[in-house]
Amino acid sequence: MLNDPLYAALRRVFGEVLVASEGERAAITSAPRSSVSRILRRKSDTVTAYGEQYRVNCPFCKNTPPYTPDNGQHLWISHIYNTDIQYDNRVVNFGWSPAKCYRRGCLESRRNKAALMAMIKEALDGASLKMDLVEERRAPSLENLPGVPLPPHLALTDPAVPEFVHSYLAGRGTSAKELSEDWGAVIGFTRFYERPALVFPIWQRGAYVSWQARFIGDDMELFKNGHKKPKYYIPSPTKKSWMLYNMDRAKYHSPGVLVEGIFDCIKVGEAGVCLFGKKPSLFQCRILGSLFGSSRLVWMPDANDPDSVATAEKMAPELMRSGLIKDVRIARLPYGDPGSFNRRELWEVIKGAGPLN
Ligand SMILES: [Zn+2]
Repeated sequence: MLNDPLYAALRRVFGEVLVASEGERAAITSAPRSSVSRILRRKSDTVTAYGEQYRVNCPFCKNTPPYTPDNGQHLWISHIYNTDIQYDNRVVNFGWSPAKCYRRGCLESRRNKAALMAMIKEALDGASLKMDLVEERRAPSLENLPGVPLPPHLALTDPAVPEFVHSYLAGRGTSAKELSEDWGAVIGFTRFYERPALVFPIWQRGAYVSWQARFIGDDMELFKNGHKKPKYYIPSPTKKSWMLYNMDRAKYHSPGVLVEGIFDCIKVGEAGVCLFGKKPSLFQCRILGSLFGSSRLVWMPDANDPDSVATAEKMAPELMRSGLIKDVRIARLPYGDPGSFNRRELWEVIKGAGPLN
C-alpha cells in the first residue's frame, strides 16, 4: 500500500476498497533538477502511468453493493490523488487528482470532480498526503530476464487440436499452419483460462521474453466475481507496455506498420508490430524510434474505435516532432479493424497513406 492515509480515507467514505496494481508507483518522466516549473506546466506529459489504484463504488452513478457483474467497483482513484510531491527539497502540490469512473465517466463532470475531492478531504480529517517524486518506471532490460516459460502446450498442427479451433481461425482469415509456421503460436493450457487458448511467444532483440494468450471464441469465461475475463492475457511479471510484438522481424522493413493486436499484425505480415493496446507507452515509443527512426512508420488504427483513431492522430505528429521518427503516417481503413481485411487489401491502404500535413 503506497498511500495509507488516502486508502484509509477512502475506506471511511466508501467502505470496501479494492487495490489494483499494488505497490506500483506512478511513472513520472524524469526531469532535470532545474525544471520543476516545466513539470508543473506540462503535467499531462509527465505522468505516463498511474500505478497503484484504489477501486471503489462510484457515488455518482449509484454504483453500490451488492457486487454483480454490472455493478463492480468502477471508480478508480490513483494513489497520487491530490498528493503533495516531495521534489528537490521542496514540497509541491502538482494539482493532480487522477480518478476515473469506468462505468459512466462520471468524473468528466467538474461538479462531480469537486464533490469527490470534498468527500475525500473531509474523510482525511486534516491528514496530509505526501509522497516522494519517483522517476519514470523503466522497463527492465528484458533481454537479460530468463523469459516467462510457455504454459503446457500442444502444437497447433497436432491432430488432437479440436475442430472449433480450426473453424475459429478460418473465420479470422488465418490457419493453424500459418500461425504455427510463421508466428510460432501453440495451443496453451494456461492457468488464467479454463479452456485451452492460443498462445503467442514474444521475442524481443533476439531473446524470448514472454507470451500472450488469446481466448478462442467470443463466449468469454467469467471470473469468480462474475466479471468477464479479458480476451487477451499476458503473464506477470511482464507487462504489455514493455513489449512490441514482432519487432525483431519488422525492423528490416520500411515502412513498419503499427497495429493494436497480434491478429492485426498477422494480417499485415512481417512488417507489422503490435502494441497489445491502442496507445503506445513511452517505452514502446522509444523502441519504435530505434526501429523506424530514420525510415517510415505507418500507424493503422482500428477504424471502428474513435479512441484508437484519435490516439493515432494525436501521437503520430508528436512522434515526428520529438525527432523519434522521421516519417510517420496514418493508414485509414474504410471501416473495421485490420483483422477484417486480407493482406493485399491492407497493403493497398498502407501504401496509400500520405504524409501528415
Ligand atoms: Zn460513475
